[in-house]
Amino acid sequence: MAMKQEQVKQAGVGTQAIWAGEEEYLVQGSTQVPVVHSVSFGYDDVDVWHEVGLGKRPGHIYGRMTNPTVQVFEEKVRVLEGAEDATSFSTGMAAISSTLFTLLSPGDRVVTIKDTYGGTNKIFLEFLPRFRVDVALCDTHDYDAIEKEISKGCKVLYLESPTNPTLKVVDLARLARAAHRVGAVVVVDNTFATPVNQKPLELGADLVIHSATKFLGGHADALGGILCGRKDLVRQVYHYREINGAALHPMAAYLLLRGMKTLHLRVKQQNESALKIANYLEGHPAVEGVYYPGLTSHPRHRIAKEQMKGYGGVLSFSLKGGVDAVRRFLPRLRYVHLAANLGAVETIAGPPRTTSHVECTEEERRAMGIPEGLIRYSVGIEETEDLIRDLDQALEGLGT
Ligand code: PLP
Repeated sequence: MAMKQEQVKQAGVGTQAIWAGEEEYLVQGSTQVPVVHSVSFGYDDVDVWHEVGLGKRPGHIYGRMTNPTVQVFEEKVRVLEGAEDATSFSTGMAAISSTLFTLLSPGDRVVTIKDTYGGTNKIFLEFLPRFRVDVALCDTHDYDAIEKEISKGCKVLYLESPTNPTLKVVDLARLARAAHRVGAVVVVDNTFATPVNQKPLELGADLVIHSATKFLGGHADALGGILCGRKDLVRQVYHYREINGAALHPMAAYLLLRGMKTLHLRVKQQNESALKIANYLEGHPAVEGVYYPGLTSHPRHRIAKEQMKGYGGVLSFSLKGGVDAVRRFLPRLRYVHLAANLGAVETIAGPPRTTSHVECTEEERRAMGIPEGLIRYSVGIEETEDLIRDLDQALEGLGT
């Protein structure tokens, strides 16, 4: 029996990941959401068609705007994030760029942090300045400096926490309060944390973004992005997306939906494994530094503990021998894909200088505090002890 959607809203995150949004499009007794590939949707009655087109009654017109399978995905994430509204995109970057280009106009000011994901950082450094948007890039862990920049006035405060790839943590509630004092819209990229570990809207954000390609989908087989939050803002960004065209494909929406049914189980396992692995690496003589908000040695561990339920499945570490040690170490690992992705069921590792921050120059990476010998390690759902044994054999004899 399908559960009523009203009940689902009150349920725990695991129940929501499975049931939210599911009922509306189940056809002829099917228990799984169908993949609707149709590009357009036909109407016998021209007046009904017109009303659907005007948004006065539910329905679909054309796949660049809405689609039944895609709509279920949007609804599931909306419920998980506790948002008023949600709209989806072909990729996480499409969600981020559409949001920023909707909210910002020439002459506006945006405050953000130096440690956003490499692609996001490019938007701040390269594209927004071309449209005469003033960008204030702040040190991610210097909350006083961020507050000072916000108090000068801004239209948008854009944050990410924990950050990619150095796992810095931003005090979301404190900075959201500061932004609201100057009337700014607060946007948070919640990709690393997932709604299982962190709910930015409850902490004061207006909008939450995910690269659904990562933990939401969890199987590294579909690209996607999503924006959730205040209805008035989400509708504005939806309008930008329906015209600019970065719509999520129904097949990708189906794969993401299927992946999300196990979101809470995957993330729980990844939280536990990542913490154990971070502790193990911190004690290893070949390791120079470990970046993980769950470690008590993390400079913002206290804030992470306050605003997160778990610390997530991604950690980074640097080796004492720098890039040379990384070159020798990575191919020795057995249970990893050496690839540019994260958040999947398989463990994935790679150096940010060739993955998330390949677009940046060495100086830009240095300015962001990303060591050239850093390795980002996205923990999969393999047995924790197997992953530790794997790391152990690969680290043996390196730089000690
Ligand atoms: N946000 C974060 C934190 C990411 O790590 C990524 C990609 O790695 C993105 C956004 C961009 O997502 P996508 O690759 O789906 O465009």
